[in-house]
Amino acid sequence: MSIFSKSLLFRGVGGRHYSAAAQTQLREILGTQLAGIKDAGTFKAERIITSSQSTQITVQGSDKKILNFCANNYLGLANNPEIVEHSQKLLEQYGAGLSSVRFICGTQDIHKQLEKKIAQFHGREDTILYASCFDANAGIFEAILTPEDAVFSDELNHASIIDGIRLCKAKKQRYKHRDLGDLEEQLKASDARLKLIATDGVFSMDGNIAPLARIVKLARKYNALVFVDECHATGFFGATGRGTEEYDNVMGEVDIINSTLGKALGGASGGYTTGPAELISFLRQKSRPYLFSNTLPPAVVAVGLKVMDMLLQSSELTQRVQSNTQRFRQAMTKAGFTIAGENHPICPVMLGDARLASKFADEMLTRGIYVIGFSYPVVPQGKARIRVQISAAHTEAEIDRAINAFIEVGRSLKVIQ
Ligand code: PLP
Repeated sequence: MSIFSKSLLFRGVGGRHYSAAAQTQLREILGTQLAGIKDAGTFKAERIITSSQSTQITVQGSDKKILNFCANNYLGLANNPEIVEHSQKLLEQYGAGLSSVRFICGTQDIHKQLEKKIAQFHGREDTILYASCFDANAGIFEAILTPEDAVFSDELNHASIIDGIRLCKAKKQRYKHRDLGDLEEQLKASDARLKLIATDGVFSMDGNIAPLARIVKLARKYNALVFVDECHATGFFGATGRGTEEYDNVMGEVDIINSTLGKALGGASGGYTTGPAELISFLRQKSRPYLFSNTLPPAVVAVGLKVMDMLLQSSELTQRVQSNTQRFRQAMTKAGFTIAGENHPICPVMLGDARLASKFADEMLTRGIYVIGFSYPVVPQGKARIRVQISAAHTEAEIDRAINAFIEVGRSLKVIQ
């Protein structure tokens, strides 16, 4: 009797066969692993929001407004009425979507306008849009690097950079987190044709910053290129929101910037690479997530366009998120909490234990404050935390309410005295 006739066979969609025994086996394997994740206290439940993204939101199971401190909505633009109106307008004018990749029939004038505005914002030659920054990171390394080349990647880079690098054929070298001694040793020893240093501008789990000025200096010394992922910097970090290179006084010196439209810049979705014209042109020919995935829908492009106009005109929101950040960091440190990172609206309140972080977040929610505990595998074992994210849209009274709730819960759970 064949192996197939032993197990039950079904005819699925499209005439394919699947095996009930195999599916039972899959359920058992995954079920055991899920139970393990729950036992370890690292299971990530999703709270269901029933309002728009904002500093005040409602969640399923409660009609009370809660104060939100865990969105990447740094500039508070995710439900900005002007942006929503512009998005509605372009939705009507340009339709729901293009049903096409860019090079077949998926490029509208608004895609070109947005690419131009983003390049203008960053002071670069050109920009290529992607469906997400995950895609931008997945598409760049494989497209431009060959086995003759080498990529030097900070060990704590975002998962999408790690995955993007995995896909390429270049020599892959990892340097210790923000350790320029280690990076220099590796650059010195390399005889690669192209050398590319890849780093997050801001590391999203720790709120700490890449030493970009020193990285750029090393790059010049060893004839390397610098790639920076600015997802947690574009639009709000640095004096006018130009990101980490502005913060570290090396404006215009980074070779390649990847960033997202899905966080500070309206929070819809979309990502991009901005840099030298030849690079952008080449990515349009070779980058697989660009070539083989649908174009951004007009309503989403509209969000990016409106946000870019706002940011090119004023940096008021940038300044507001920076002063709110200072207020939170100073008061929490004074109260006895350990806040990781530097000067950034990502304020990780370090707790260590995964269950404690999860319990702390639940207690905060009973006080009307929405924060999330982060634990392994998103952060290293034993380094669980609550990642607070400050927005320009928070009022000072809202920031103070969160601080007071942290102090109350921190005392009751014996995190502070
Ligand atoms: N890079 C970093 C540093 C991120 O934090 C994220 C999102 O979590 C991404 C890339 C992916 O961005 P997107 O949501 O646009 O795919």
